[in-house]
Amino acid sequence: MTHYKSFLHALHGIYYKGEKKGTKAGRQKLGDFVSINFVQELIYSLEQVSLGTEQLLYFVGKKYGKDVAAEYIKGRDKKKILKQIGSHFEKNKVGLLEIVNVEKKRVVVRIKECAISHNAPGVSTPVCFFISGFLAGVIEKKLKKSCIVNETMCCALGDDFCEFIIREQD
Ligand SMILES: [Zn+2]
Repeated sequence: MTHYKSFLHALHGIYYKGEKKGTKAGRQKLGDFVSINFVQELIYSLEQVSLGTEQLLYFVGKKYGKDVAAEYIKGRDKKKILKQIGSHFEKNKVGLLEIVNVEKKRVVVRIKECAISHNAPGVSTPVCFFISGFLAGVIEKKLKKSCIVNETMCCALGDDFCEFIIREQD
């Protein structure tokens, strides 16, 4: 399992070293970015397997945020942390993160043009569990406080953006 972790670090680290303006440049003809359709095929295929997959995607996103992404985020100020996450999401074309409200223990962010759910067929629940988990993992690690993230609005529900409520626990 260790080799996966070091590969994830290598992938994530590329965006912080300024190499080729954020591309891995591994594929000569096709470049690094894949169709949003493929991303959604993968996520929806996983999510249709069972309800447990939603928790799994949250857990995986959280672990990735905590063990890998948080190492590339500087400082402990919530707004600055979120701006760095937003910059990472935009470079990777995950979506456009907007900070809506920052309170002591409750933060609201939105993601527009979300790769996981934008123009996705309507389903009865939000679908961006990996992103929810990712936000929880990064913030938990940086603030050293337990944190829960709920997606309250989602493009997959027909909303114009995905909205995430980040709550710090006591
Ligand atoms: Zn969503």
